[in-house]
Amino acid sequence: MACLLSLRTQDTTTGPAAARLFALADTPHAMLKLSARTIERAIYPVGFYRTKARVLLGLSRDLLDRFGGGVPDDIDGLLTLKGVGRKTANLVVTLGFDKPGICVDTHVHRISNRLGYVRTRTPDETEMALRAKLPARYWIGYNDLLVTFGQNVCAPVSPKCSVCPVARLCRRVGVRTSR
Ligand code: SF4
Repeated sequence: MACLLSLRTQDTTTGPAAARLFALADTPHAMLKLSARTIERAIYPVGFYRTKARVLLGLSRDLLDRFGGGVPDDIDGLLTLKGVGRKTANLVVTLGFDKPGICVDTHVHRISNRLGYVRTRTPDETEMALRAKLPARYWIGYNDLLVTFGQNVCAPVSPKCSVCPVARLCRRVGVRTSR
């Protein structure tokens, strides 16, 4: 549920919003006792808080109806849940269940392509290419590593190539301006 709150929302907003929500309800059963309005108030100001409040209620109902109130621990099961895409599904299996998966967000997709490690057009294609190429022992840590690297060095616009510690290994695919 916190993963869903985090979509299009800063981490600094998501964390406290999730804490406020889980203080009110920390199971699907308890969530269904809350009104959409109460959930909206708890999670505000996350992006699309009104839509997300309804998604969380639908998700709670679905988890109870089809999964006995638990969360599926495999990607195929997670993808059957409304509002859950591959990024969220991979994040849940890796961080929630310590199972293999590669969470590909915008940083992972961009940097893997800039490095020349993969050549893909979409995050889903990047995930499949990485699953075929990246040794499994790096899968879970890869997201954390590249998100931090993308926020601090290999920025979306004008990456800091002049101070980049892996510049020697990078093909800089598609990089037109850099610092
Ligand atoms: S050299 Fe530039 S484009 Fe390549 S990884 Fe480093 S910062 Fe990113």
